Amino acid sequence: MERGKPGSTEDLATLANLDGKVLLNELKVRYMDSNIYTYVGDILVAINPFRPLHIYGEEESQKYYLEKKSSNPPHIFAIADAAYQCMLGYGGRIPQNQCVLISGESGAGKTESTKLIIKQLIELCRGNTQLEQQILQVNPLLEAFGNARTAMNDNSSRFGKYIQLIFRDGHVDGAKISEYLLEKSRVVHQNGEEENFHIFYYMFGGLSAEQRKNYNLLPPGKHRYLTNGADCLKREPSYFKKQYDELVNAMDLVGFTDEEEDNLFSIIAAILHMGNVTFEMDDDEASFVEDENGPVKMAANVLGVSSEELVGTLTNMVTFTRGEQIKRHYTKAMAEDARDAVSKAMYGRLFGWIVNKINQLLAPKDQSSVEAREIGILDIFGFEHFEKNSFEQACINLANEQLQFFFNQHVFKMEQEEYMKEGIDWKEIKFVDNQPLLNLFLNKPIGILSLLDEETHFPKGTDESLVEKLNIHFGGNSYYGKSAQSKSRKFTINHYAGKVTYDASRWLDKNRDTLPPGVTEMLQTSSNELVKLIFRGQITRTGSLALQARKSTRTTRRSKKPPPAGSHAGGRKRKQTVAGQFKNSLGILMERMMSSSPIFVRCLKPNHVKVPGKFDETYIQGQLLYTGMLETIKIRREGFALRPSFAEFVEKYKIIVCEAALPGSKQNCLRILKASKIVGWQMGKTKVFMKYYHLEQLSDVFKKM
Ligand code: ATP
Ligand code: MG
Repeated sequence: MERGKPGSTEDLATLANLDGKVLLNELKVRYMDSNIYTYVGDILVAINPFRPLHIYGEEESQKYYLEKKSSNPPHIFAIADAAYQCMLGYGGRIPQNQCVLISGESGAGKTESTKLIIKQLIELCRGNTQLEQQILQVNPLLEAFGNARTAMNDNSSRFGKYIQLIFRDGHVDGAKISEYLLEKSRVVHQNGEEENFHIFYYMFGGLSAEQRKNYNLLPPGKHRYLTNGADCLKREPSYFKKQYDELVNAMDLVGFTDEEEDNLFSIIAAILHMGNVTFEMDDDEASFVEDENGPVKMAANVLGVSSEELVGTLTNMVTFTRGEQIKRHYTKAMAEDARDAVSKAMYGRLFGWIVNKINQLLAPKDQSSVEAREIGILDIFGFEHFEKNSFEQACINLANEQLQFFFNQHVFKMEQEEYMKEGIDWKEIKFVDNQPLLNLFLNKPIGILSLLDEETHFPKGTDESLVEKLNIHFGGNSYYGKSAQSKSRKFTINHYAGKVTYDASRWLDKNRDTLPPGVTEMLQTSSNELVKLIFRGQITRTGSLALQARKSTRTTRRSKKPPPAGSHAGGRKRKQTVAGQFKNSLGILMERMMSSSPIFVRCLKPNHVKVPGKFDETYIQGQLLYTGMLETIKIRREGFALRPSFAEFVEKYKIIVCEAALPGSKQNCLRILKASKIVGWQMGKTKVFMKYYHLEQLSDVFKKM
């Protein structure tokens, strides 16, 4: 392609004159020409084509096989190739664990990119082993249970995942998946036109009439958990059938037994029946199941538990005080909450079990002395901004903030700090630091998550009192906006990717995420082995129930008040809240990422309407702005991505001056650099500072010798 013509620049860091307009135009011309990939130095920018491109076949796979980056056009396979080479220490690099961090809004193409990277990594190993096939097969399984159609993406990931591929001797030896915060609330409720997890629909498309009968399933439109009973199979039946077949095939390959598959579908069916259970109240506000021979019986049947017991755990709570049995009846709203809590718990634990099962299957086998290295790939749920945003969106957006922070740390902060320390000639490049926003969420004891936890444990805490506290503490924080209405449950956060107004309704319940008392014990008696397994060893705390935050109703006997919600019943340790768990797992993830060498992929979404060929300039401009793309290009153009110590540099490149033994001194570095004739490097106090393209230039010098 002719250089200088718009759209001909494969690496934007090579453009001398760049402003927002030029950048946008470059990307637009490239995109309209089906060039969805562009480099910014070592970072890959990918714009979702929203149509199948024929650039991921055998031929491309071969092209990006242990190649130099500049030999081929930008491509996601080149990222896989780079990660693989860096991990192994190709071309004189130091072998190092890698992590590929993929960011972008919901629907920008992160999950598709992840799949393509894994596919190419497996290609690069060329082992053609059963393990490799299994690694490729787990995806349909994870997506069936973890993805759903949302307003922003027809196949939106409703959980975050970090996949670690473990290598020995350049071959895959195993894999491990860590999952983050599955959006369980989707099982019982979906907003507007959104759907439940794919599996529910696949099941209707794929089960035989006999199987459906065995699970007592009604027509899909009659199950309330499926888009509230509306017309819910929005695609051709053949589509669902195909997806179902693919799923069952994946289950077989991953090693699920027929019994496990049957148990698993029973759980999904039970959840659907639970969704149809309705309650009424008597004059004393005590709830009862409307039709004891209806859905509740079907749910009990497929779960293999006693119907009476199920009715009992959904409508009342039995506690023992000084040997006396006390039965407290739930109100209708409490019973509905109990029902939904059981459904969510069953689904959440089932998902956890599936991931566990996959991990067991893919666990590294080789315990030999060959050192293991890994490539991790992070694919989280993208930034979300709906009309109504709840606790789930806050967690999702916080994870995205954390990822943006990590990007900033690596690309701007640590790098420039090093320039200062090493005293090289450098003019500071400013970037938008989102540290204050992370502090707003994560600070202890006064951060949004800490205050949420405090309110969750506080006996009289409510969603309203939480927002009141947030307003008091953060009223003056420029990242926080109070609602104009008093007593509102709403507040606004000024995220790096835009303002989002959250509604704190049910946040305390969602954060507690507890099961009604007696449920675990009841499910442990199930004749379904899988139900038994996933509820094994879990003890519910008396009085820990979220329901108690609400009005309690009559008791059958006079009794002392039960312990308040969240109190330490019997001195037992507090169950960790959802926010607490999430914060921990984010911390662990960050540590893991810090200990690897990161490679960044920035996915951009070209339009809101998910159509090909539409490059919405304003929308893309917004994404370029909030991701700090111009600044990134600037630092990649002017900065020094390679910073070997004098000793490392001399060790690697002494051959250029034809010396076998050479001390790793500054003088010797200078000697080698002069001999290599590369330009644009700088000398620090302990390191050589080189541009990202110098690596290839040096290996060219190498090869010519
Ligand atoms: P979320 O955060 O909601 O999970 P995401 O960033 O993971 O979003 P994807 O699910 O990867 O988004 O992509 C959304 C859709 O865009 C895909 O289902 C697919 O139709 C299309 N798409 C993305 N990348 C590509 C690609 N490289 N080629 C063809 N289509 C693509
Ligand atoms: Mg995704």
